[in-house]
Amino acid sequence: MSVIDARGLTKTYSISGAEVRALRGVSFSVSAGEYLAITGPSGCGKSTLLQLIGGLDQPTSGTVALMGTDLHALSDRLLTGLRLTSIGFVFQRFHLLPVLTALENVELPMAEAGRPKRERRARAGHLLEYVGLAGRAKHLATELSGGEMQRVAIARALANEPALILADEPTGELDQATGAQVLDLFDRLHADGATIVVVTHDDRLADRAIRRVRMVDGQVVADESRG
Ligand code: ADP
Repeated sequence: MSVIDARGLTKTYSISGAEVRALRGVSFSVSAGEYLAITGPSGCGKSTLLQLIGGLDQPTSGTVALMGTDLHALSDRLLTGLRLTSIGFVFQRFHLLPVLTALENVELPMAEAGRPKRERRARAGHLLEYVGLAGRAKHLATELSGGEMQRVAIARALANEPALILADEPTGELDQATGAQVLDLFDRLHADGATIVVVTHDDRLADRAIRRVRMVDGQVVADESRG
């Protein structure tokens, strides 16, 4: 079964009478263990596509199935629950809660999913170790560098053992050296079996992915795998 199966997705935004056709019929699927980069010029619909795949927005037409479940047929409550336990999101600007420590940020999705305190604390500690930040567990998010914040955000994305990691320009705010650490981490996640879909302008990141889907003007124009 595909992790993601998107069929005939369109998305039209209407702003004060004017229509923007952000997606014009996109279909593709992602299998378990794939590492896929979605690339293309600014405004071609990459982020819109990622939001639809992640159930953060509704398509104008078409369907998205996550592990066989049609996302847009779910109630808001069920969709929120499925997102929490099945998808790990990584954002360009990290979106950590500044008043929490690194450890507490990683614990948060597990708390929301109702996992017991002792278990989630232990798992958050292991995940910080996995991303190389065991020594920063008690630091507030605001006391971390950009690269460290993104690695905490990746640990947080892994918290509930998601079926899918979705990342939107994860190196967009980082310099080359810290960006490279994030790329290495994605490589390791892929080697450890994660399914990763990343939207990026960054050729270094797109080159590391095994499959590349290129978009132009709301459509997929190429879908290539290497190796
Ligand atoms: P990309 O991620 O490739 O830069 P986006 O998916 O962000 O592209 O945007 C695709 C098109 O949809 C652009 O023309 C953009 O201006 C428009 N768009 C994106 N989000 C919205 C929105 N919330 N409201 C109106 N237009 C939007």
